[in-house]
Amino acid sequence: MKALIIGAGIGGMAAAAALKQQGIECDVFEAVKEIKPVGAAISVWPNGVKCMNHLGMGHIMDELGGPMHKMAYQDGKSGKVMTQFSLKPLIDDVGERPCPVSRAGLQSMMIDCWGRDKVQFDKRIERVTESADGVTAYFTDGSVAHGDFMIAADGARSVVRGHVLGLELERRYAGYVNWNGLVAADSSIAPIDQWTTFVGEGKRVSVMPIADQRFYFFFDVPLPVGLEENRLTLKEDLKGYFAGWAEPVQKLIDELDPETTNRIEIHDVEPFDTFVKGRVALLGDSAHSTTPDIGQGGCSAMEDAVVLGMSFAGNTTIEEALLDYQDRRHERAKDLVLKARKRCDVTHGKNMAVTQAWYDELKQEQGDKIMAGLKDTIVGGPLG
Ligand code: FAD
Repeated sequence: MKALIIGAGIGGMAAAAALKQQGIECDVFEAVKEIKPVGAAISVWPNGVKCMNHLGMGHIMDELGGPMHKMAYQDGKSGKVMTQFSLKPLIDDVGERPCPVSRAGLQSMMIDCWGRDKVQFDKRIERVTESADGVTAYFTDGSVAHGDFMIAADGARSVVRGHVLGLELERRYAGYVNWNGLVAADSSIAPIDQWTTFVGEGKRVSVMPIADQRFYFFFDVPLPVGLEENRLTLKEDLKGYFAGWAEPVQKLIDELDPETTNRIEIHDVEPFDTFVKGRVALLGDSAHSTTPDIGQGGCSAMEDAVVLGMSFAGNTTIEEALLDYQDRRHERAKDLVLKARKRCDVTHGKNMAVTQAWYDELKQEQGDKIMAGLKDTIVGGPLG
């Protein structure tokens, strides 16, 4: 049995690992010659780390995961700590730690795990057809590939999604711009073993420790879509948006490198229930594209892969296995997209009174409520 896997991102490489565990041969096709991730880092929450362990890639988490032992919110303007707590109770409770990791490192190590020379780069799918005995992928360079089934992990702008759903979906602008990158960890910005977030005015600034004494940072600002901003003005833009904010925020802006800082208009896609048509299945962002507000998009792709493997282990035909995968994933995936959307609106001042109430709540928070929310998200994954 042979699978065609489209996309060598987190979803595609996790799916390849999961199918290999079931003894299924995979050919992996990736559109670009060289993968350049859109974000500098991601937080892999314990549900994702459990999936990576399950898929035989736990060592990547050990190597890349930063020492994120605590969490804190601080007032953006005054810098005053609103809440600060250890994540140990959460880690003990769910049985795994969160791992903020360099995204380039993660993607590169996942590809290496599979075998870089086995990924066919510069192969952009434009069309798929199905027949009684399998699927055919047509690439923009005129080449074709045949397999028994296809896993389309071709991201939020998926080409294969149109084939599965029979319609094209528009991405929805979430209302804010995110700048992200990496800087050397600096304790004058925030403790280097802590996920620290400065909040105010519906904006946020966050630093998270990744391996090798580096901070993953991001800035979020509610803005109209399509603004003409570029690297040349990046620091001035951020200085403007965060004028009057606390010293650590100013320091972070001073220290970042505009050349390696990403600016992304954040989108998601309205959730849908159909992940499978015949022998073609969507996986990862192609199936459920979320805002990054609860840090679960990549984790969700890893969960998809784990469930895909379980579905092939427990079913006899390809069609049954893929439908079982769809049945076990669509509600969970939708739940995460909608949870992120809700969190996005509160964090980014969609209704400033609600956002202000959240800021007030943070000042009363001892950590229990936040960790209960995180736990709820984590244990809803396929590995508990
Ligand atoms: P992608 O990573 O988009 O990979 C798709 C791959 O398919 C790409 O390599 C692409 O080149 C290839 N491809 C595209 N079209 C074609 C084609 N036609 N033919 C062949 N190949 C094609 N998630 C978390 O879990 N935690 C976080 O903290 C987190 N933070 C985030 C922060 C930001 C700012 C953003 C934008 C996202 C964040 N995410 C996070 C979400 C996470 O990045 C995605 O959910 C994840 O990358 C999805 O993986 P994927 O493999 O499905 O898609």
